[in-house]
Amino acid sequence: MTPLTGQAISQASVIPFPTPRPAEEKRPRLLLSPPHLAGDELEELRATIDSGWLAPAGPALAAFEGQLSAVLGMPHVVALASGTAALHLGFHLLGIQPGDEVWAPSLTFIATVAPAVQMGATPRFLDVDPATWTLDPALLRAELSAAARRGRLPRAVVTVDLYGQPADMQAITAACAEWGVPVLSDSAESLGSVQRGGHAGLGARLAAFSFNGNKIVTCGGGGALASEDPWLIAQARRLAAQSREDSVLYQHETTGFSYGMSSVLASVGLAQLRRLPERVAARRAVHERYREALSGVAGLSFTAEPGWARGNRWLTVLSVDPAASGTTREALREALAAEGIESRPVFKPLHLQPAFRDAPRAGGEVAAALFENGLCLPSGSQMTAQDQGRVITVIRRACGR
Ligand SMILES: *Cc1c(COP(=O)(O)O)cnc(C)c1O
Repeated sequence: MTPLTGQAISQASVIPFPTPRPAEEKRPRLLLSPPHLAGDELEELRATIDSGWLAPAGPALAAFEGQLSAVLGMPHVVALASGTAALHLGFHLLGIQPGDEVWAPSLTFIATVAPAVQMGATPRFLDVDPATWTLDPALLRAELSAAARRGRLPRAVVTVDLYGQPADMQAITAACAEWGVPVLSDSAESLGSVQRGGHAGLGARLAAFSFNGNKIVTCGGGGALASEDPWLIAQARRLAAQSREDSVLYQHETTGFSYGMSSVLASVGLAQLRRLPERVAARRAVHERYREALSGVAGLSFTAEPGWARGNRWLTVLSVDPAASGTTREALREALAAEGIESRPVFKPLHLQPAFRDAPRAGGEVAAALFENGLCLPSGSQMTAQDQGRVITVIRRACGR
């Protein structure tokens, strides 16, 4: 193949492209949560490539873990290949065995429990608190007492900081501590969220984070596991590197995984993470603009923030009351799609998933109702007021305003 020279490029540029219609030019597709580049990712990447550390090790990786540890206020952090890998290692460290029960809120993404299920555990889904959309602490407390009476306590409880709203960790860990049940926090969506003076996930035995392309800060893919316990993170680090013992011989006491984050991705993460405070402020501003423009419309509402938390508002979720608004979540989604605007129903609760048809549960009606009427709106940190105006206009029109 001939290389593309300057001449070839200029020849290519005379091929007449169909000129886009002005309407399309002015109206780019609006996505739910696209990556937001910091601008200096390439500099960080170049430094890593120049250093030759194209491996799941090296200075960029160490710097990324150090920065993340500072952001989280958790002294021990290991960067990993994905948020799901972080959860998988978390379940290993908590000693999940085939036949164990692992409890989780029903309203979440499947990755919250998928690794535990693949390890042979039985998931049990608990309903969420309608005020925070996260694991209901009162229900958890009651269910733990009942499980203790049955003699079948869960091996672990997983909490989820849904759409960036921190779970009520204080109440949840207090309930679990009574029975010695460890808590794993799925904080994949809550980087930059705080609760009772600490970062989201703090208070759990382990907290998992994600740097997938749709998250508030991305490496293009990646995750991390954090803890206040140095032993747990040292074990996670060993398991993530094929459980290799500290020896030049290929010595292994157990089998492990290839779950380390590449330092190439960590370089992108370094540039991204520096912008986290700005990204949180931008997503919160997006949320406030939606709230101001739409909460006065009959039948439309947003979740309030409890006094003890300040979430990153990763995604803004609109709740649609069909009787009062004259529209439905699905009609709204279609009206937005027709204008090139992506929106998504709230996660389908796990107790309603065919994959978990037979899983035990406690409640689920709150999660089901939130799913029925909840629509995630475009919430990217680079959204302009004008972009948001497009979304707001379509929604108001669909509600006859
Ligand atoms: C994104 C996400 C995950 C998985 O993270 P990956 O990095 O994509 O593996 C897990 N749980 C929740 C709630 C998520 O939103």
